[in-house]
Amino acid sequence: MEHNANNPASLELTLIEQTNAMLAAIVATSDDTIISKNLDGIILSWNPASERMFGYSEEEALGKHISIIIPPERLEEEDYIINEVKQGRKVDHFETIRKARDGRRVPISLSVSPIVDPNGLVIGASKIARDISERKRANEKQAVLAAIVETSDDAIVSKTLQGIITSWNKAAERMFGYTEDEAVGKHITLIIPPERLDEESYIIGEIIKGNKIDHFHTVRRAKDGHLIPISVSVSPITDESGKVVGASKIARDISEQLSLQAERARHYEEVKALNARKDEFIGLASHELKTPLTSVAGYLEILSRMVTEEKGQLFLQKTRQQVKKLSALVDDLLDVTKIESGKLSFSEEQFDIRKVVEDVIELISHSNHQFQFVLNAEVDELFITGDPNRIEQVLTNLLTNAVRYSPGTDRIELFLSKDEECALIGVRDYGVGIPEDKLEEIFSRFYRVDETKSQASGLGLGLYLSQEIVSRHGGTIWAESETGKGSTFWVRLPIKL
Ligand code: ADP
Repeated sequence: MEHNANNPASLELTLIEQTNAMLAAIVATSDDTIISKNLDGIILSWNPASERMFGYSEEEALGKHISIIIPPERLEEEDYIINEVKQGRKVDHFETIRKARDGRRVPISLSVSPIVDPNGLVIGASKIARDISERKRANEKQAVLAAIVETSDDAIVSKTLQGIITSWNKAAERMFGYTEDEAVGKHITLIIPPERLDEESYIIGEIIKGNKIDHFHTVRRAKDGHLIPISVSVSPITDESGKVVGASKIARDISEQLSLQAERARHYEEVKALNARKDEFIGLASHELKTPLTSVAGYLEILSRMVTEEKGQLFLQKTRQQVKKLSALVDDLLDVTKIESGKLSFSEEQFDIRKVVEDVIELISHSNHQFQFVLNAEVDELFITGDPNRIEQVLTNLLTNAVRYSPGTDRIELFLSKDEECALIGVRDYGVGIPEDKLEEIFSRFYRVDETKSQASGLGLGLYLSQEIVSRHGGTIWAESETGKGSTFWVRLPIKL
């Protein structure tokens, strides 16, 4: 400034010249397009912002008719504007569309003022235009968001940090019974039951820290006083500088969800109770069956000593076999009840597992002459700790199944080996096999593959009991199989418990 003040040239500038220079500078640096034209529509000035907005340079625009930037369908707007200006009136914030050099349409807000000569005569118009595409986009976005909020099934409410409700959508009206007019401006405690008021300070505390609260299950109160269980998510609302200025909450009525849950829990309890009664019944029934069965077996034993006739002996033999089968089924049922009530007990002793395997082979081959049982043992003897009777029960199950599910075949193989810590026993048959997706299920209680098609009778308990016994020995049992080709059941038992 000081420099300019000493400059004789700038000192010579008249006040008007100075003002003009200043105005010219403002026009040149303005972000708004500033254009002036005469009353015939001929462009007289064209600032750099006009150049940026419409793509015509000052040189190209000066002297041209203003219609170069007016889309053909809007040409009559110009007549209206000029008319207003001629009458000395100003046109303010007229929203319209103009056309850039490349044909692009630019939404603008236009203000046009008359230019008057010293005599007060209107000689032209100056127009200032602002690009409002950004604002238009923001408006559209806001309209979409507003539509989403209005049509949402969830209640969407916003409030200030002091808890004053600032917006209230249609779903909030439906859920809480207050209209938008009734709710906006009120404190959010409008819908908070008195005993839950401290929740609000917790929520606001989190929001002030900038935290979001997700799926907070609580209860709110509607206008008519009824309580609504809701799941609410609350997010901070921030201003442009990032400062938290309020909270928006989305609430979903979860009464239906809750009653569904309660119903499910009730069903579950019912099923559990029924199941317990069923177990109780199985226990009772098998116990009641066991007593007469034991005496039947006893009397048959006595009878067999008295009957000398050959035919009578044959029938007795068959009867005893059937009674044995029946006893085995009842025993299985009793075992299941014991497992369910945690009363299945085990002895713990050292025994030779090879001996047990051989005993079971002998027992089963006795009544299944059509099969050849082949034992591949890598050890002469193998002592392990556990309950020999229970392990025998497992192996008997496996061998019985191998026979039962291998009609028309004649060979069953057994394997016995050991590694450092475990004994491994395998039972392989060449029977019907088990589908891959059933290999785990067969160990569940009462499970039978393809029950309807199966020719063999059974309760689906053998493998369930076997698995229970093996796992109580700290071991594992599993099956490998290929349908139509046969199955191998493996049992791995720790040598020491
Ligand atoms: P059950 O033999 O009394 O049905 P299990 O628990 O012993 O009960 O066996 C469950 C099911 O597993 C059987 O019904 C049968 O479908 C299948 N299964 C068991 N062992 C074999 C096997 N060796 N070959 C083919 N299927 C078998």
